Amino acid sequence: MYLEDSKIVVIKIGSSLLIDDNKKIRKKWLSEFAKDIQELIKQNKKIIIVSSGAIAMGCKKLNINKKNLKIDKSQAVASIGQIELMNLFSETFAKFKINISQILLTLEDTEQRRRALNAKRTFDNLFALGFIPIVNENDTTATSEIKYGDNDRLASRVAQISGADSLVLLSDVNGLFTQNPKIYKNAKLIKEIKNIDKDIEKIATKSIGEYGTGGMKTKIDAAKICQLSGCKMVIANGLLNRPIKKIIEENNCTWFLPKVSK
Ligand code: GLU
Repeated sequence: MYLEDSKIVVIKIGSSLLIDDNKKIRKKWLSEFAKDIQELIKQNKKIIIVSSGAIAMGCKKLNINKKNLKIDKSQAVASIGQIELMNLFSETFAKFKINISQILLTLEDTEQRRRALNAKRTFDNLFALGFIPIVNENDTTATSEIKYGDNDRLASRVAQISGADSLVLLSDVNGLFTQNPKIYKNAKLIKEIKNIDKDIEKIATKSIGEYGTGGMKTKIDAAKICQLSGCKMVIANGLLNRPIKKIIEENNCTWFLPKVSK
């Protein structure tokens, strides 16, 4: 519904969609996702992908565990993993003739107007060249105080800077539920949210940790940024094959509607 009308779409994918619990790369999923992207390109949409996975890919390469990694070590691990991550995208997307580029951003790049405008120009030039930017945080230089730390908020800033119409957060759940759906059978998926009120915040805070990666808190923070930039945002299940097609056809997800126009 909303995606069809969007010209610029930012799609965020988390590490768990690319690498499973046994550290196996979900190659089939990424190929299916590439088909989604191919379809969106055919419809003349401009796409930006925000992908996590640098640290997870680095851990895989080094055969170490992500848990207990200190920040300085994780920066080295991210440096090793980022190239693996881009190789994975490059190999998979080449099969579908999709050209990609890499952009690594720091918090300052999106918070300072001059740098943000510069980033916007780069996005526009890449669109004109027919390349899809794949964005991640520049984990190798960011210290904990100046770090996003989560790609949900990074993706919302990217959506804001690029003037996106929609931000898609691919998660491991269908969206925001009235209660934890894993515990409460009558939990209902909230389909549309216009106003992030105390009740919504409460549900989101409660669901941290219950929903696995990222939690809902950072997704709600991202939604607030989107609401003030005139960008629609959707939380949808990314674990399914062809997740974007599913959003368009089934709309079994949670949409946050903007408060202002673009
Ligand atoms: N930038 C981190 C990485 O690529 C991930 C941050 C997140 O999971 O949101 O590993």
